[in-house]
Parts: sequence; structure tokens; C-alpha cells
Amino acid sequence: MNELRVDGDSLMKLLSELAAHGRSPSGGWTRPALSEADAAARRIVIARLAALGLEIRHDEVGNLRARRPGSDGAAAPVWTGSHLDSVPSGGYLDGPLGVAGAVCALEALARAKVKTRRAIEVVVFVGEEGSRFPRGTIGSAAVSGELSAVEVLALRDAEGVSFADALAAYRDPGAAIPARVAPGEVHAFVELHVEQGGVLEANGAQIGAVTAIAGLVQRAVTFTGDANHAGATPMHLRRDALLAAAEWALALERAAREVGGGAVATVGKLEVFPGGKNIIPGRVEAICDLRAPDAAHLDAVDARAVAALQHGAARRVAVSERRLQRVEPGAMDERVIAAVERAAAQVGLRSHRMVSGAIHDALHMAEVTASSMIFVPSVGGRSHCPEEETRPEHLTAGATVLAHLLLGLAG
Ligand SMILES: [Zn+2]
Repeated sequence: MNELRVDGDSLMKLLSELAAHGRSPSGGWTRPALSEADAAARRIVIARLAALGLEIRHDEVGNLRARRPGSDGAAAPVWTGSHLDSVPSGGYLDGPLGVAGAVCALEALARAKVKTRRAIEVVVFVGEEGSRFPRGTIGSAAVSGELSAVEVLALRDAEGVSFADALAAYRDPGAAIPARVAPGEVHAFVELHVEQGGVLEANGAQIGAVTAIAGLVQRAVTFTGDANHAGATPMHLRRDALLAAAEWALALERAAREVGGGAVATVGKLEVFPGGKNIIPGRVEAICDLRAPDAAHLDAVDARAVAALQHGAARRVAVSERRLQRVEPGAMDERVIAAVERAAAQVGLRSHRMVSGAIHDALHMAEVTASSMIFVPSVGGRSHCPEEETRPEHLTAGATVLAHLLLGLAG
């Protein structure tokens, strides 16, 4: 076997070709699911996969699957991949790195003349970001069976366009394979992705071995007091909705710190009504986002968030809340995590075990097969913004670790 190493120039060229599509006038990249920019990026990937002689198929919800056969046709394949859609004015690496890295890892295997026992499939999941249709991780949720294909095709975007109609314009016509896979049908799944945080930089590690994907709870809370004159109302006669919301936000910060275990809590949305500079806030609409790597810590921080709403009573502010969504945390598979560490060590890189605070397609894949992720450092921890960047040597390192990992898993 020749040395197994991803060609960094080829990876950077593919990433820049993908980045030519969806440039946003307001900065960064806007590539909504099933848009023309998404389709153009996908055509580039298909051309590179076709050049490798892979069998290219799509499933009924638009996930792309390209298979490199193994010597044992009966053995379950190893999957790797990510997504090509983006958030509005996002970065060029979130998603595309996992796709381009998979393509370049397979090119490296071909150059090294490596044969594997198991087939390797590159998968491009559709609609991961949730920026066009009302939810994210659509493609992988269809693979795991959390969403049926019928439910996916009935989703509608803000303009009323159905997923089915958008898909018909997006992919080549023709028969599609089923999206859902049964447990055991896929041997393992690995996703290469930018970290989107600052943990690897802070630890001086080049590779993150992801042990779990944090789950989340989001709650919408309304604080209702009295709007009144900011000059004529004495402090003791006020019912200030914003002060109750502020106490609650600070209580959430304390709750996450005290619960520990990687729990985080954020009040990222706060609307103050009526919103006048000389009016005491009469009503506040707030949304909190709570995350933790396991259900026990998520439950604990969520219970504290609900209990902390009683601060409103002391201020005579009425409080109502409703849960917007809950996503269960997903544990990654110990054997695949250890395989990521081994692959990093083979390439001479330092790895660090870590939790993903962001949700990825690997969360759903973990429901049907042994899964983990390879993270590479994000410069300054920035992501979902035009400044999203990873040093070129880290991009190449991540894809090279993926190539070794695929070889290890596919045998
Ligand atoms: Zn992503």
C-alpha cells in the first residue's frame, strides 16, 4: 500500500469550487436546501464521485449516496458524509468539509490502491440546517425513520413550496431508493465537520473525537407586567416585565454552571413591548435554549429553568411558558470514538475527546448505527458566520484522518 494521505491542494480546490455557489450579497454563503446553489454544489460533488467510478444513487427524499464497492458484497457498508446546505450568510465549511473530505478520502484510498472488505458510501444529506423548511436534519431523520418520506415530502417552506416540488426541480428524475435504513444495514457512520467552537484551539489539539451530541430544550416564555410612564411611576409601584425576564436569564446562567456536566443555557431572543425609551416594559417575549450531552443533565437544567420562572411572582409579573422543542442527546459509539483516536495517532496528530454542542446528521445516524464525528479546529471558534475558517493544514489533517478511519472501519 502506498502512503494514505489526502491531497491538500485537491481538497482546497474542491472546497473553493463549492464556495463559488451561494455567495450572499450581505456576506458569507446562503445555500438553502434544494435551492439552485445547493443543486450546483451537488453537481460538482457528483462529478468528482463519478470520476472515481462510484455508483451514484439518490433516495426518495433527495439524499445522495455514492458507493465504493468492497470485496465482500454481503458485508454492511461504512457510511461517511455531511451536508451542502447552509444557514443564511453562513460560512463555507459547515457541511461542505464533511462532503469534500469524504470525496478526497476516497480519492486517497484509490491512489493508495487500497481495497476494503466492506463497501464505503459517501452520503450527502439533504436539508441539515433547517433554514428553508421548518426543521433541520431532514435527510438523516428520514434515514433513521424519525421522519417518514411522506412527512418529509409534505414539508413546506415560508413561500408555501412543498419539499416534494422543490425536490422534483433539484434532482435528476428517475427511480429513487428508500431513505430509511434498518439497524444493522450500515456498519458504521463517521462525519468530518468543523468544530464551531473553541475547545480544540484551547486544548492545542488538531482533531476532536466526538463522544456525544448534546440534546436541547427550547422554551418560549411570556412575562406580563404593566406598561407605564417611566417618569411618573415610583419604583415600588412598578410591574416591570423586563426585570423579571432579566432575573430569569441570570438564574439560567447559574443553573447551567451549577448543574455542570457540560450543560449550557442561553436566552438568545428577547423582545420588549411596547419598546419605548420612556415606557416601563409591560411585556417581554423570551426564548431560552438549554443543552446538555445526556438526558439527566438536560432534565436538571430544564427543571431549574422552569422553577426559576417564579422570580416573576415576587415582582407581580405574570409568567406563561410553553416548550417549543426537545431533541434527545445522542451518545456516540465507543468503538468508533476509539477508532477516531487511533486514526489521528496514525497520522501523528493530537486528538481530544469532546461533546458536540451543535446538532449534526450524526445524531440521527447514531440511532441506526455505530457513529462518531471527527472535528477540526475552527479559527477563533467562529461558525455560522462569514468569518468561519479552519487552517488549511487542519482541513487536510481532518480528511486524512477520515481516510485512515474509513480504512480501519471497512477493513
Ligand atoms: Zn453542519
